[in-house]
Amino acid sequence: MAQLSDDCFAHGGDLMPLDEALALLAERLGPVRGREKVALAGAAGRILAADIGALTDVPPHDNSAVDGYALFFDDLDPDAETRIPVTGRVPAGGALGRPGRKGEAIRIFTGAPMPDGPDTVMMQEDCREDGGDVIVAPGISRGANWRKKGEDVREGDTILRAGRELSPQDIGLAATAGHREIEVWEALRVAVFSTGDEVREPGDDLPEGAIYDANRHMLVAALQGLGCRVDDLGILPDDRATITRALGDAARAHDLILTSGGVSVGDEDHVRAAVEASGSLHVWRLAIKPGRPIATGQGDRTPIARLPGNPGAVLITFLLIARPIVLMLSGAGPSSPTRFRVRAAFDHKKKSGRREFVRGKLETDEDGMLVVRKFGAGGAGILSALVGADGLVDLPEDLTYLKSGSTVDFLPFSEVMS
Ligand code: AMP
Ligand code: MG
Repeated sequence: MAQLSDDCFAHGGDLMPLDEALALLAERLGPVRGREKVALAGAAGRILAADIGALTDVPPHDNSAVDGYALFFDDLDPDAETRIPVTGRVPAGGALGRPGRKGEAIRIFTGAPMPDGPDTVMMQEDCREDGGDVIVAPGISRGANWRKKGEDVREGDTILRAGRELSPQDIGLAATAGHREIEVWEALRVAVFSTGDEVREPGDDLPEGAIYDANRHMLVAALQGLGCRVDDLGILPDDRATITRALGDAARAHDLILTSGGVSVGDEDHVRAAVEASGSLHVWRLAIKPGRPIATGQGDRTPIARLPGNPGAVLITFLLIARPIVLMLSGAGPSSPTRFRVRAAFDHKKKSGRREFVRGKLETDEDGMLVVRKFGAGGAGILSALVGADGLVDLPEDLTYLKSGSTVDFLPFSEVMS
């Protein structure tokens, strides 16, 4: 297992632009778990630990792309129908067993090996059979419907690079190239807990001043979507001894600890004290809204990411900063979610010097063009607007006023959630 440096979250303490924070993390974080081989059936969503090469050409042999007739292009009349005797048959998985000869047509089916000789396959829809002959319409081009050995992939080619999150098509490609098993990184083990004397488990009694725990359940779900093995450590009271014990236990058995709540200025921050007692803690004042500050640290060398308490801010900071941390520790290669350039259909005033993420909903305007509207309330505590929104409008640090009609970066949730 790789080791992170002692103080992988250290920084100067100033307000930090998001891109700078991400670049710093990319420099310092890497895979922390071992590799394992998994069967194709269990590989979806796992992160590839080593490049994969093709064990065979794909397709493995020249073959027909259609059901039809294999023949020599030079036997065909370019301007009129041609009549040719059908003298052989090759089904998929079969073989003609001899070369094809000029002046004959071979009945052939999709995927069946091309016999040596013929260079063109007529689609059966463009032919008719008549008394053992096939009558072929003019107009085909030489080489039509002839799929070449290795035209998709060549034996020895690198087909998948380490660090990919395996998609269904990745698994299909590995399979067609001959792999039965794939080497992936072991799933990251992540512990999640909430903090706060006022936080209660959903369904429990809700006394005056209490609130149900949204964050923990949201984070567990988000981490599972990233392929992590998640342990839910519940809700911890604002009590130093309890938190110190829980953090110590969690650090021993996990690769990452994710907490929410208790980071606000003015809080009696027991998590901070507990982390500092066993390692180091750094509060990152990210230049983003909503969400700053978040804190990162290491207790017993186990990284900790601490998100705000307000659920809306939790989701957004998870997507922007905790998700990349999880991916880097999991062995995922560098990637940045695609932001789409979309026209804004709202005005918005913002402070300069911090990047702002506004909940947005995509709509089509009267000309059928995609536009993004501001959706719902924007407060850090508001979760319902994140349910209705399609993603986040990403407004740059230096912008102070967004005028309706300008083009903005839009980060769809589909880019950052699975
Ligand atoms: P804090 O960062 O602990 O000061 O919390 C900020 C706000 O988020 C407060 O209103 C908390 O009650 C609320 N909050 C903290 N943790 C949770 C949680 N797990 N679920 C829902 N709301 C929370
Ligand atoms: Mg709190």
